[in-house]
Amino acid sequence: MGSEAARIARRRDQAVHAAVGQGLLSEAEPVAALLDVAGIRDSAAGLRAAFAAAAAPGTRVLHAFAVKACPLVPVLRLLHEEGLGAEAASPGELALARAAGVPPHHTVLDSPAKTGADLREALALGVPVNADNPQELARLDALTRETPPRAPLGLRVNAQVGGGTIGALSTATPTSKFGVPLRDEGAREWIVRAFLDRPWLTRLHTHSGSQGLPLRLMAEGVRVVYELAEEINAAAGRRRVGTLDIGGGLPVNFASDDTAPTYAEYARLLTAEAPGLFDGRYALVTEFGRSLLARHGTVLARVEYTKTAGSRPIAVTHAGVQVAARTVYDPASWPLRITAYDSGGTPKPGPPTVQDVAGPACFAGDLLAAARPLPPLSPGDVVAALDTGAYYFAHHYAYNALPRPGVYGFAVRPDGTVRFATVRAPQRADEIVAEAGGEHRDALLPE
Ligand SMILES: *Cc1c(COP(=O)(O)O)cnc(C)c1O
Repeated sequence: MGSEAARIARRRDQAVHAAVGQGLLSEAEPVAALLDVAGIRDSAAGLRAAFAAAAAPGTRVLHAFAVKACPLVPVLRLLHEEGLGAEAASPGELALARAAGVPPHHTVLDSPAKTGADLREALALGVPVNADNPQELARLDALTRETPPRAPLGLRVNAQVGGGTIGALSTATPTSKFGVPLRDEGAREWIVRAFLDRPWLTRLHTHSGSQGLPLRLMAEGVRVVYELAEEINAAAGRRRVGTLDIGGGLPVNFASDDTAPTYAEYARLLTAEAPGLFDGRYALVTEFGRSLLARHGTVLARVEYTKTAGSRPIAVTHAGVQVAARTVYDPASWPLRITAYDSGGTPKPGPPTVQDVAGPACFAGDLLAAARPLPPLSPGDVVAALDTGAYYFAHHYAYNALPRPGVYGFAVRPDGTVRFATVRAPQRADEIVAEAGGEHRDALLPE
């Protein structure tokens, strides 16, 4: 384990102990989520440094955090303070980015199904937009005839370089739903013409996939789009495409606290694959999500009961599908590390014993981990689901009307004490009722 990994693990243990000691986890709040503020800052700094090292001096690089990975306003605000922007893929995500104070020119709107109103709003705000398809480009034609755009506009391309091990996250297959499929017949010529005909179209965008996509294919997707930009600019006889938006997708190591691959490794791979990418002729936009946040989030849950079924020990905890939908529904693709603590929040010793870590939801598949060797768990113990800072607790799944747990950012002071800040308050029962149509109680009764 590297020293950075050791520091992450140590901070996490300190935070778990403090969360239990300070009552964030209790009978009333048996689930809580923690975010490691120092870890998030380190990841943001690592991303900036990697691209700054790879790119020629003066190259403009905007790292637009993919809001969907962790749609929490204080997180977007922290990343904004760290010099990052926001990539929004829906009106809601755009609203979150604005609420966090991310300025329009540090934002990118990418949603695949933008309405006319969405496009109008983005243009009015001066938010750069990547069009997904020819019909959307036609809408932009109409809108830009009314008012010349204040923000750069781009076109998303599906480089069709192939998929990875998780089909649902592979966006560069021949039939993926995103962008203009570059290798389809006639598409390349159509794209070149689209740029030649539209002086306001100045960006190319691609995002070939997320977790499970081999790094080699990610880099190939970027190269393919870089080459397309070169072709467009050559055909125009001058610079038409000035910015390349290379998407996100760097995979996360869910097996240990070691960061692999690193941003620096990816930047080196891109340099080798498409040397011209970083030579300063193109401004760059990136859209990393999971790799910035995943390892800095931890879900804590109390063990309520322990039992055995068919000789399998089972710990019944309060964290399941509501905070870990992907793991519960597709455990083979999304295994999570689980660590065990005693009721005081101290790492629990004991011989590894194969057991299931179950959640609170009423369906059999609601397991955080199946047949996992862990110290024998007892009621009152605490389990932690690691690497859940992206696409987990911030993506609540409201099964069984289970409440959204509180989310707390933590910072460890030099003396080892821990300060928590509320990022999202735990959801109350009256809020659940309100969201479930509580105010329309009699709506279905006869008048
Ligand atoms: C999801 C997504 C991202 C972020 O992907 P990560 O795997 O979280 O880095 C970036 N860009 C687009 C267009 C996306 O859909």
